[in-house]
Amino acid sequence: MSAESTRTNWPGIIEAYRDFLPIADDTEVVTLYEGATPLYPAPYLSEIKGAEVYLKFEGANPTGSFKDRGMTMAITKAKEAGARAVVCASTGNTSASAAAYAARANMACVVLIPAGYIALGKLAQALVYGAKVLQIKGNFDEALEIVRKLGESGEITVVNSINPYRIEGQKTGAFEVVDQLGAPPDYHFIPVGNAGNITAYWRGYNEYQKAGRANSKPKMMGFQAAGAAPIVLGHIVNNPDTIATAIRIGNPASWEGALAAAKDSFGLISSVTDEQILDAYAKLARYESVFCEPASAASVAGLLATDIEKDSKVVCVLTGHGLKDPDTAISQIKVPEAVDASYSAIAKELGIEG
Ligand SMILES: *Cc1c(COP(=O)(O)O)cnc(C)c1O
Repeated sequence: MSAESTRTNWPGIIEAYRDFLPIADDTEVVTLYEGATPLYPAPYLSEIKGAEVYLKFEGANPTGSFKDRGMTMAITKAKEAGARAVVCASTGNTSASAAAYAARANMACVVLIPAGYIALGKLAQALVYGAKVLQIKGNFDEALEIVRKLGESGEITVVNSINPYRIEGQKTGAFEVVDQLGAPPDYHFIPVGNAGNITAYWRGYNEYQKAGRANSKPKMMGFQAAGAAPIVLGHIVNNPDTIATAIRIGNPASWEGALAAAKDSFGLISSVTDEQILDAYAKLARYESVFCEPASAASVAGLLATDIEKDSKVVCVLTGHGLKDPDTAISQIKVPEAVDASYSAIAKELGIEG
């Protein structure tokens, strides 16, 4: 094995791509060695699409999602600015990532959520990292409004998607894809929720080309869930609904960024149904050995539903780990019944003779 194929000396995305990030020479970096995630060849998908398909597995990040790329930047800059705490209104992967990086930086992390909304399963990770979770008697918009005001106080930094450093950190995913493949792919498939990630990847591909590290750019292929597809529909969705909770967003913060990425790259923003998402989710585990969360599978559901040119190079981003959402996993399987504790009973189940 060559040195480059191990993570042993990987310094995290800020040190690896410092020249492309707004970081001063003397800035103290807060990192958990995020990034350097695998780019798996996907033989099953390559075969059925007649293309060369790769899976960028972001579930391999420290807290299990790509949010860590943005959070190392957001927390590093918050610490540099002297913030004592960070705050976000999120019940999902953003709060888990914020809690982990805040803990590493010796800062407090506050998560504000509407009372009654609490799904402890998704929040458990943030709580274990030590986040302070406050339930407010109000809705998500009211929570966000308070978060914004807390940010204006100067002592607490907001790490919701309005924080500009998160997109800066997330663009390093595109740098890694180009470094791993040796060139940009022809197509880049990606799930779209708040649309920060598609905006970030497009920025990354553009910056690498400007720097002379790539001489082409992929078509950006963004996929929303059909029940939460405001960009596809062209209007805000008031009660977004999908099994893919990480992209259950009715009014994306980076709406314009997603539209620009699709238009400027000759790509598209489209949608896939929950049925298509769960089909891709199962196939990824069964045929490619990659267990991702349902939202992540929207990229591959999009690939399966799209005609692409033969022999193209394709990258699908798998944004988060399957263990993030055990409830969906359990709902998709049949719990096995108990069998007699005898060799013959087990042999019979397995179809072994004698
Ligand atoms: C946040 C998230 C998304 C959506 O990314 P956006 O930047 O909001 O479009 C998709 N999948 C997972 C696992 C996420 O955590």
